[in-house]
Amino acid sequence: MSKQADVRTIGFIGAGNMPRSIIGGMIRGGYPADKVWASNRSRPKLDALHSDFGIQVTQDNHELVAACDVIVLSVKPQIMQEVCADLKAHSPDITKKLVTTVAAGVPIAKYHAYLGNETRVIRIMPNTPSLVGEGVSGLCADTSVTEADRSYITQVFDYVGLTIWLEEESSIDVLGAVAGSGPAYFFEFMDGLQKAAEALGFDATTARAMVQQTALGAAKMATESELSLEELRKQVTSKGGSTAKGIEAYQEHKLNEISDQAVRAAVARNQEMA
Ligand code: NAP
Repeated sequence: MSKQADVRTIGFIGAGNMPRSIIGGMIRGGYPADKVWASNRSRPKLDALHSDFGIQVTQDNHELVAACDVIVLSVKPQIMQEVCADLKAHSPDITKKLVTTVAAGVPIAKYHAYLGNETRVIRIMPNTPSLVGEGVSGLCADTSVTEADRSYITQVFDYVGLTIWLEEESSIDVLGAVAGSGPAYFFEFMDGLQKAAEALGFDATTARAMVQQTALGAAKMATESELSLEELRKQVTSKGGSTAKGIEAYQEHKLNEISDQAVRAAVARNQEMA
């Protein structure tokens, strides 16, 4: 049984990795497969989605629009204009649907320009850990999107992790710089710890296992605690102990300033690309 009360027919245009992970999360969560559609340019990904999850598939984007109440545009940003122009020309009903998009860097105003100002648009920025059900999705909506639409889309993206609504569309650039790029920052940091362990005699497999389990454990402790991250850090740092020495080394090299610079640099790049 789906945990979701509002079950609309939803269709993904473009059937790459991101829609596949969202669809997988929805079906595992009990969303009815006959209410989920996907369309794609070529056939193989559709066949896989149909056999893995039992959803409805088509190579005709217009058939999908006719069947669905909610559309998730999931093609690459570079071809979004062309795909929208075709939808507007041959599926004029698209303006009556809730149109959502996961394409990076395409602002809501562009969808209004491509599809018509009356179209209800929600822009969503998921991140790659959505592929393992632990994603962060930042969402923002135009003013015509209803509370019921918001609640529906929240439930859909909750299947693959945490959903965060943003009042200002410009905040998507910040969310992208923290949560979108963040997995790479954590991999970089974890790689440094692994290499440090290897330099002191550990084999790569054991060093990696030790680092990734520590990262998972720290993230879980942070998730389950109400303490601030600074307080959690203090709790595991006894005065004069070895952790305090390690933290001192990070502080000497201004780790927090480095994180601040990394996020600002990524925000600036997101703004340039928008
Ligand atoms: P992808 O794997 O390249 O998937 C794009 C899909 O669109 C392909 O399967 C392609 O079909 C299909 N397609 C191309 N033209 C089409 C058309 N006219 N009609 C229907 N389908 C068409 O890309 P992705 O990684 O899933 O990314 C998709 C979107 O998600 C992008 O806009 C990206 O910015 C956004 N996004 C992705 C991530 C991520 O972690 N992957 C994170 C945030 C946002 P073929 O199989 O024939 O090539």
